[in-house]
Amino acid sequence: MTVRVRLAPSPTGDLHIGTARTALFNWLYARKNNGVFLLRIEDTDKERSKPEFTKNILEGLKWLGLTWDEQPVLQSERIAEHRKAIVSLLKKGLAYRCYATEAELQLMRDTQANSGAAPHYDNRHRNLTSEEESKFVEEGRTCVIRFRIDQQSTITWNDIVRGPMQWNSKDLGGDIVISRRAPANEIGDPLYNLVVVVDDAAMKISHVIRGEDHLSNTAKQILLYQALDLPQPVFAHTPLILSAEGKKLSKRDGVTSISDFKKMGYTSNALTNYMTLLGWSPPDGMEEKFSLKDSSLVFDFNRVNKAGAKFDWDKLNWLNSQEIHDWSPDKLLEELKSIWLSEGWISPDKEWSLKLVELIGPSLTLLNDGLEESRIFFDEPSLQNDAIKQLEMEGAKEALSYIFKKIEKNKWNGQNQDVAKSIISDCAKSLGVKKGLIMKSLRAALMGTLKGPDLISSWGLLAMQSKDLPRLKKVL
Ligand code: GLU
Repeated sequence: MTVRVRLAPSPTGDLHIGTARTALFNWLYARKNNGVFLLRIEDTDKERSKPEFTKNILEGLKWLGLTWDEQPVLQSERIAEHRKAIVSLLKKGLAYRCYATEAELQLMRDTQANSGAAPHYDNRHRNLTSEEESKFVEEGRTCVIRFRIDQQSTITWNDIVRGPMQWNSKDLGGDIVISRRAPANEIGDPLYNLVVVVDDAAMKISHVIRGEDHLSNTAKQILLYQALDLPQPVFAHTPLILSAEGKKLSKRDGVTSISDFKKMGYTSNALTNYMTLLGWSPPDGMEEKFSLKDSSLVFDFNRVNKAGAKFDWDKLNWLNSQEIHDWSPDKLLEELKSIWLSEGWISPDKEWSLKLVELIGPSLTLLNDGLEESRIFFDEPSLQNDAIKQLEMEGAKEALSYIFKKIEKNKWNGQNQDVAKSIISDCAKSLGVKKGLIMKSLRAALMGTLKGPDLISSWGLLAMQSKDLPRLKKVL
């Protein structure tokens, strides 16, 4: 059997991390089994679906490296097929028109709530006589179409994550609506469970891999496969991604869309690595840091947990920093250049830029950290409190003035670090002050704060751009 899997996102929002993780597990399973990974855009909700969300989803998947194999299917273009399936169910007597009004249904739900019963449709229009039906039509009532759910059956399937599954049909909330409300002689817009079954069958999907929030849908869909005489795929329900508190991850937890993670400076490799670990554990001997290629060689559902996976920012950050630290200076420079540009900073030349990248690279966790880490090399710093205090220390100004005079006479071009080191040593000897004081004061003057990367390298970068002298002059 050729493995054919799919992601079926609804373009009603940006690519969410939960959807991206589902995409990832589908993609890994397809790649591991030489199968195909397909996309179906479920854009039938006309009010909530937006082309900009489709764009965001496709761009996000591409950025993550989760490429798809055939032209994406647009669900809205398949409505004729969905309608055909509804007509066939009506003909077989497996679906029927339900004329209950919104007000009647509300009353039914209120009564159920008052008596403590679980909300369900009570199948009241399942067996209307033709007289009853004609009467509703004459009244001008609209109707939905419902699929009959035998109340006595047990639905079973073998889930490749969760093992043997069992669902009582009476827990599915009564006969389900498969098309939206419409005039009595029409078929309204077909709805989710029906269209998914029709489309998955048409796309010859072999494995439906999706979040465990779809378990009850799977039970309903199995009944629809049977009713429509369609071959049933294998199901895999993956654990949900939970917040650090163990609740379902939601917008309230801050960033949840892939484009936001990208904007914050996460790399696509660290994200796919981390998302794979959200629910899957690598086989013994495999490190926790791996590429998509590595995991696609060994991925299988035996190593996917049933329990929800808690989102751990520290771990994601660690993976991201490891990823950035593994990059070549050239690759990191490419990324940092666009971050610098966003601030209007143009790097003077490649040699200088690469030196800066090598200096700050090891301290980056997020790519965007490169903005603050680079700031003092582009913008004139203002003196922070720690620097002001340092410059008031006894001997600080004298030392800086000594250094200023030295380099005013004989400019350091920033290249040979021994030159800078000997200027500092000479200063210490001549003035009889500690090297520590000189270096701290120099840092305060050049960078405006006592924190920051290696002093001599930073000074070198500033000297290469002749920015050291004016900064020293300013504090004297
Ligand atoms: N459009 C559905 C969703 O985004 C698809 C679910 C499924 O995979 O069947 O939740």
